[in-house]
Amino acid sequence: MNEYFHSVNLDKDKCRGCTNCIKRCPTEAIRVRKGKARIIKERCIDCGECIRVCPYHAKTAISDSPEIINDYRYKAAIPAPSFYGQFEKKYSRDNILNALRDVGFDHVFEVARAAEIVSEATRQLLTNSLVKKPMISSACPGVVRLIQVRFPSLIDNIVKLESPMEVAAKIVKTQLQESRNIPAEEIGVFFISPCPAKVTSVKSPYEKQKSYVDGVISIKDIYLKVLSALNNPHNGSKYSEAGFEGIDWANSGGESGALGTENVLAVDGIHNVIKIFDEIEGDRLSDVDFVEALSCSGGCLGGPLTVENVFVAKTTLKKHILEAPAGCTEKMAPKSFEELVWTSNVEYKPVMKLDDDILKAMEKLEKLERICDGLPGLDCGACGAPNCRALAEDIVREIANETDCIFKLRQRIRDLAEEMVDLGGKVPPVMDNDPNGE
Ligand code: SF4
Ligand code: SF4
Repeated sequence: MNEYFHSVNLDKDKCRGCTNCIKRCPTEAIRVRKGKARIIKERCIDCGECIRVCPYHAKTAISDSPEIINDYRYKAAIPAPSFYGQFEKKYSRDNILNALRDVGFDHVFEVARAAEIVSEATRQLLTNSLVKKPMISSACPGVVRLIQVRFPSLIDNIVKLESPMEVAAKIVKTQLQESRNIPAEEIGVFFISPCPAKVTSVKSPYEKQKSYVDGVISIKDIYLKVLSALNNPHNGSKYSEAGFEGIDWANSGGESGALGTENVLAVDGIHNVIKIFDEIEGDRLSDVDFVEALSCSGGCLGGPLTVENVFVAKTTLKKHILEAPAGCTEKMAPKSFEELVWTSNVEYKPVMKLDDDILKAMEKLEKLERICDGLPGLDCGACGAPNCRALAEDIVREIANETDCIFKLRQRIRDLAEEMVDLGGKVPPVMDNDPNGE
């Protein structure tokens, strides 16, 4: 059963079956069979790791076309803080935000501003003794999905606050309706995104609430247009209002750095995140109240939908951070974190379970272990599964055969050949069929 919209897709024609992607997938969601990759949809968390590693660009992210804005009379752009890192340092934030307006938007609002509001709500939550520690940031949708499928025991640690993207979209819609009297249905709010997981979180929110965002446009898809507008500047408005803390959310360590406490940990890169979550599950992480976990290496600046090298983008962003004022959210700060709290809980997605029936699941697990013991344990990936255990699981699930393992296949051929030789020795001599004995 697949309840999610997925933003990461496979272009079968481009796939050469090289198996590069299968070992990098954090949820073992990819198999290569008959020379082509296949994504097991219910396991995929849209982290985009396979997009990065595919040498043939066979994995792609689906986002909305920039043309989608034409479906609305009044169009507002809400760029991610990482957007600023994509352009040369000579451009100010207002240059970039006005260029965004020049490519067809009527209004621009920084998600970095909303990030400061979420930081304030998180600071309040941190002082609440009823909240389970360490709190794990929900800013990265890929990480929340990872917890849903691989770390259900950490669901209660997730910070259940609306994301800066949702907060920004809500503010824009409210402001435009109240100050300009524009009907809600005529306002389209579009997130300018560095990552495919954000697309998924809008199209298929884990909160089961409709998103305030009407479309997600990838930075890659809008970059050239904005660059061209930057080179033909017009008199602009002052849209830049975020403080440095909000802009720093684009970096790994930015969100946690804004909390004003030492007891934080920032981890980026989905495989590093898994190691830290293993530590938390094993109760081996002490003195940490808040974990900022980001699926992409380098944080959102390293998102697969960005255009600039992550290290170059970091240097550029630093300039914007240094130029920005201190936090300026006072007039927008939530009176209580409760204003931002999710109205529903995050659900466990038991996609790794072998069977819903516990007895059957145990039988299957025993069978899996038996099969696994008989496999060579080399985790070579030649069978199209990421490791021998995953192949054993596929065999139990009846989507693969033991002979998909080339070592098993070779053994089987050898056994068959020996059997043939053995049988050959048992074949009776050719009978002389002449009935007259001549
Ligand atoms: S997007 Fe992430 S989870 Fe999905 S198939 Fe690719 S690597 Fe695996
Ligand atoms: S990395 Fe994966 S998707 Fe890309 S060509 Fe190789 S098998 Fe196909």
